[in-house]
Amino acid sequence: MKEPTPIMDLELSDMPDLKGLADTELKKVPFERRKLLCSVNGCSRFTHVKDYGISPEFYAFGSWNDLSQTLFFCPKHWKEYKAANRNGGIFEYKEGPAINHIK
Ligand SMILES: [Zn+2]
Repeated sequence: MKEPTPIMDLELSDMPDLKGLADTELKKVPFERRKLLCSVNGCSRFTHVKDYGISPEFYAFGSWNDLSQTLFFCPKHWKEYKAANRNGGIFEYKEGPAINHIK
């Protein structure tokens, strides 16, 4: 009788724990460059974030960010936000968290 062959879902088992990787290791992992738009209404400035396929976590600004829990301010609006003593109420926003405004 032939030995049964175990099967394994390599795609899942080989998936590295991305968030535990050092920066040097992470650089070897393929990602998609995406545009993250400023959350302030009418603002079309953006930054680039790295999409490693583990949404809502995206790599940006040297760390992991859960973009379903955050807003993103471009440098201009960040300055205005700080000048207003970090009062986010001075702006009108696009709908939803930062993740809704990724291209
Ligand atoms: Zn802005």
